[in-house]
Amino acid sequence: MTSFAGGSVWMDGVTPAATPLAGDLTTDVAIVGGGFTGLSTAIALRAAGHSVVVLEADHVGHGASGRNAGHLTPVIGKDLPTLALLFRRRARPLIELVELAIAHVERTIAEHAIDCAYEPVGNVLAAVHPKQHGMLDKAGKAAAALGLDAEMLEPDAMRARDLPATFTRGLLMRRGGILDPGRYVRGLRRIAEDAGAVIAERTPVARIEEGSPASVVTPHGVVRARTVVLATNAWTPALGWLRGAIARFHVYLFATAPLGAAERAAIGWRGREGIYTAHEILESYRLTAGHRIVGRSRSWSTRSAIDSPRSATCRSRIAGAGRSRSASTSCRPSGSAARTGTCTGAPATPGTASRWRATQGP
Ligand SMILES: Cc1cc2nc3c(=O)[nH]c(=O)nc-3n(C[C@H](O)[C@H](O)[C@H](O)COP(=O)(O)OP(=O)(O)OC[C@H]3O[C@@H](n4cnc5c(N)ncnc54)[C@H](O)[C@@H]3O)c2cc1C
Repeated sequence: MTSFAGGSVWMDGVTPAATPLAGDLTTDVAIVGGGFTGLSTAIALRAAGHSVVVLEADHVGHGASGRNAGHLTPVIGKDLPTLALLFRRRARPLIELVELAIAHVERTIAEHAIDCAYEPVGNVLAAVHPKQHGMLDKAGKAAAALGLDAEMLEPDAMRARDLPATFTRGLLMRRGGILDPGRYVRGLRRIAEDAGAVIAERTPVARIEEGSPASVVTPHGVVRARTVVLATNAWTPALGWLRGAIARFHVYLFATAPLGAAERAAIGWRGREGIYTAHEILESYRLTAGHRIVGRSRSWSTRSAIDSPRSATCRSRIAGAGRSRSASTSCRPSGSAARTGTCTGAPATPGTASRWRATQGP
């Protein structure tokens, strides 16, 4: 079993490079949080000519941005019919917005040569049982009504794409694909720094005193700023904002060890499309450039550590295909995980599993 330094397979070995804030600073905008949101905001504000300081409690990519599954996709899960139902005429503009977001990420990767193993292969919303095929039909109809670039893959089309047989049918979202989120967030950091943003890591913001300017208080210095951007995701309530609006929950990812050629041949999974399932709480699966399987279980918790050893059990759908046991994985919580759930991928070959912690919040 492998524990990844940096908390995730994508951030293995990454240590804070920027120096912590030491002393006081004045800036146009202080951004709290060094994930996708904080860094993208910093890049946009620098392009508009504002001075920017990014304050990150740990290291860039420490949060969900460095720990996610890396599916670049317009929707995740089977929520298109719900979107259409809830938002009606506003649903199409929302789809246009996510399509813009995908185009923005693709343009950023290309223009700044971010080496993040991006593969524009799309993602498949997949059924694992014929009982889920009706859900796919509803999602397909909603996708067509909303003008989303999607295609229903019947079972023979799934097999023609060399997707595992355990996935019985799928709705392919053509826009987007899969990437290495750790390398992507580090690429954003480089762009922000090249543009002149100051990034202070290991600099937790203790409190923000409103005023003109506002004072952003850290252990070793105060940043005075006209505007403060909170890019703190699920940590935001800890700073006193959005307490009633954010529900924090913990989800789990696993990574297998890199699969050898024989294991890959036995599984018969050569298609590169990302996969997520049509469950209410979805699972996701994808291959990495380094031949690992990275997946997300359906288990989640509102607590930061989980007591029941079975409560976060997940099994790889790949093993369910019945073609090979070599990539089977199990996921269980670790009692030693203090503030986050710990997912342990345990391939059938002992000693080759990988583990990292994934959390939607602290
Ligand atoms: C397991 C998992 C899988 C996911 N898979 C996908 C996927 O496949 N595709 C997809 O599009 N999305 C996915 N997501 C969601 C996606 O990762 C998040 O929406 C995105 O990363 C949020 O970015 P962010 O910058 O807003 O927050 P984060 O990346 O969480 O960044 C917040 C940052 O704020 C910092 N911070 C917090 N408090 C303070 C403080 N007081 N002072 C200073 N710094 C502070 C934290 O250290 C952290 O670095 C997934 C999420 C998880 C958890």
